Amino acid sequence: MQPGPHLDNPVDTLLEKIEIDGTAELGGKLHQFAADLYPTCRSITGNGIRQTLRAIQQRIPLQIFEVPTGTAVFDWTVPKEWNISDAYIRAADGRRVVDFRSHNLHVMSYSSPIHAVLPLETIRPHLHTIPEYPDWIPYRTSYYQENWGFCLTYNQILSLEDGDYEVCIDSTLEDGHLTYGECYLPGRSSEEVLISCHTCHPSLANDNLSGVSVAAFLAEHLAGQDLRYSYRFLFIPGTIGAITWLAQNREKAAQIRHGLVLTCIGDSGGFHYKKSRRGNAEIDRAVACVLKDCGERFEILDFSPYGYDERQYCSPGFNLAVGCLMRSVWGTFPEYHTSADNLEFIQPLSLAKSLRACAAIVNLLEKNRRYLNQNPCCEPQLGKRNLYKSTGGEPVGQQIHARLWTLNMSDGEHSLLDIAERSGLPFETIAGAAEALCQSGLLLPLP
Ligand SMILES: [Zn+2]
Repeated sequence: MQPGPHLDNPVDTLLEKIEIDGTAELGGKLHQFAADLYPTCRSITGNGIRQTLRAIQQRIPLQIFEVPTGTAVFDWTVPKEWNISDAYIRAADGRRVVDFRSHNLHVMSYSSPIHAVLPLETIRPHLHTIPEYPDWIPYRTSYYQENWGFCLTYNQILSLEDGDYEVCIDSTLEDGHLTYGECYLPGRSSEEVLISCHTCHPSLANDNLSGVSVAAFLAEHLAGQDLRYSYRFLFIPGTIGAITWLAQNREKAAQIRHGLVLTCIGDSGGFHYKKSRRGNAEIDRAVACVLKDCGERFEILDFSPYGYDERQYCSPGFNLAVGCLMRSVWGTFPEYHTSADNLEFIQPLSLAKSLRACAAIVNLLEKNRRYLNQNPCCEPQLGKRNLYKSTGGEPVGQQIHARLWTLNMSDGEHSLLDIAERSGLPFETIAGAAEALCQSGLLLPLP
């Protein structure tokens, strides 16, 4: 008996489970999870992110880490912790004309505390709106410069009359911690696959919660399975979280072989995959291969040093094979960083199909390996081994082509992904061919 691969790969179970659940049902669960997290006022530090991580902890084995304010992380410093309990602008008649309790985007994230009565002209430079979309509230932050501000709809600002207003931001900006969550699922190898998403935006659905929801469900499906790779899921504040993790986990980072940043993955747009800095890493090819057969629109984008946390993972000192999977690209849709990026903007079906694509990518990485043809001198006779006919639902021609391609290319140098790319056949068909050929003794897996 050869030590051989785990042919009944448990990751199949993941794909099957996602199918069995039904896309609509699964989509409903993913959307509900995002909806549960939606009202929380998150920021790069503070209780909002802690609360979010505790909710994720209900689904998956998540370890929560606290890094003290002032900790040096490469060229950055862990900032003060920000918490907020209330904020408003109150008119002379006692009405709250802007109210944090009605939408947490109304306060600029990381606003320093203030309580004063001020004339509207003094307040105005601290008010942010989007005149092109007069009913939407913008999302603004001021992380690394102490300031205060309110965000409101353009219609709201038009309704403000001159005069004095009571301005109150009941926030604290003090020494505390940066909080992040990590879910590690050990596999047979210590080599790792990284899945990373940011968890630092307040009530924004596509930018933030779609990635969180898909990542949490993917981890839940993979937990407890017999996996080839080890998997590390990071739920971190954008930029400073990734920088902090990399600064404090250099040995772990060295174990990362493939990685994905998940963001803006719940809207109804087609897929966009931004390649890693390397550009031709296995993850880049794996994602392209999966998207080609996913039945949805997709586009592959080259790496650029702006975007989400792939910027940090792909900085030259790490140069990790980490790409970014999105649907609509951040910054290109009008709802981006506004109150219109809400629970209606993300679609249950899109979330479910995004999770399915992630599961197919994991499946590919788990199964991609090299084999050796045991009968390399001319074609083996497939008919006498019962391999010259279809054994599944796929067209006969496609299965036989896949077996012939797999036999021909399994010279010890080419992986199943190489074969799928060169033949143009779906990876799953090639993997199925390799499995059938192994069972008949015509192929032997290489270590
Ligand atoms: Zn954002």
